[in-house]
Amino acid sequence: QCRVFCPTGAISIKTQMDEVWDAIADPNTRVVAQVAPAVRVAVGDAFGLTRGHSVMGKLVAVLHRMGFDEVYDTAFAADLTIMEESKEFLDRVEKGENLPLFTSCCPAWVKYLSDQYPEFKDNLSTCRSPQGMFSAVMKEYYRDPEKNQGKKTFVVSIMPCTAKKMEILRPNNFTKGEQDTDVVITTTELIRMIRNSGIEFSTLVTEACDMPFGFGSGAGVIFGVTGGVTEAMLRRFADRHDKATMDSVAEAGARGEDGIKEFTVTYKGTPLHVCVVSGLANAHTVMENIRSGKKQYHIVEVMACRRGCIMGGGQPPRAGSRTKTARMEGLYQADNVTSIRKADENPLIVSLYDGLLKGKVHELLHVDEY
Ligand code: SF4
Repeated sequence: QCRVFCPTGAISIKTQMDEVWDAIADPNTRVVAQVAPAVRVAVGDAFGLTRGHSVMGKLVAVLHRMGFDEVYDTAFAADLTIMEESKEFLDRVEKGENLPLFTSCCPAWVKYLSDQYPEFKDNLSTCRSPQGMFSAVMKEYYRDPEKNQGKKTFVVSIMPCTAKKMEILRPNNFTKGEQDTDVVITTTELIRMIRNSGIEFSTLVTEACDMPFGFGSGAGVIFGVTGGVTEAMLRRFADRHDKATMDSVAEAGARGEDGIKEFTVTYKGTPLHVCVVSGLANAHTVMENIRSGKKQYHIVEVMACRRGCIMGGGQPPRAGSRTKTARMEGLYQADNVTSIRKADENPLIVSLYDGLLKGKVHELLHVDEY
């Protein structure tokens, strides 16, 4: 069994790169990739390109050349997460139940809370992570015999994260008894696969994602950095989408490198107390404050890695402070150049709710228990 190592040296982690090559070689298998937001700002410098710049278009191109049939952006599913999580949050605020709402898109945080603070499990959002939502929707799409044309669908998730390898094995990431995501490949593993393929990455002409799920809003893209989930949700709550509105949301308090950020926003006359946390030591501090009653919040976003997924355990290690800053700026820059910056304005999301998701929202997008 081939293994790669956790950058901290604490654990060894299974790699399944050979399974991906085998699936690509099988003519009866449709191999679909989803690429998480943080991956695009960590690959370029491995191939001599500018540190931190998004290379999403080149990633789509290289994955197509490696033999993937379809390539998608996990930011699309992050938009779905925002739709569901913001609705769940407003329901809880209205009922005064299970507050604060804890975000659920980081599996290391979900495990930490479940193990260390089980009395707060009902406060976790029931939303699957963007990875989980994407794969459940993709597999459901190809359950239709007219669409699958007799081929099996194999979903490969390209993530900045080693914990995502565990997330896909949890029972709540199975639909209709089937594992939704087949394999997780980390950013470092992807870099190795690109090198092994012999494709000249730096000179590739950029390509766009495939359809029918090929577009994520800027709100989905910033999920890769601490505060991104919160900012995406605040955009969802905003009535307008003009630059001044987006700038004022950006300045609300979710951005920045601090491990614990606290601020208050007002939504329809109600003050909402927000906490954005990155790093499990900081999460511990925040949880002790909540448990003792010293602090009260309406929503708490937690990412187990400091600065969020841009510094995940599956990203190229030994990233210095300039790299950390460049990755963060790279994601905000990628957001700045999208024409749709609110999840609820992504037309692909709107049509998904009118079509495939009808009667299946809970089954495909939520978990029943942790
Ligand atoms: Fe994975 Fe770290 Fe992102 Fe959590 S913050 S999802 S552990 S990369």
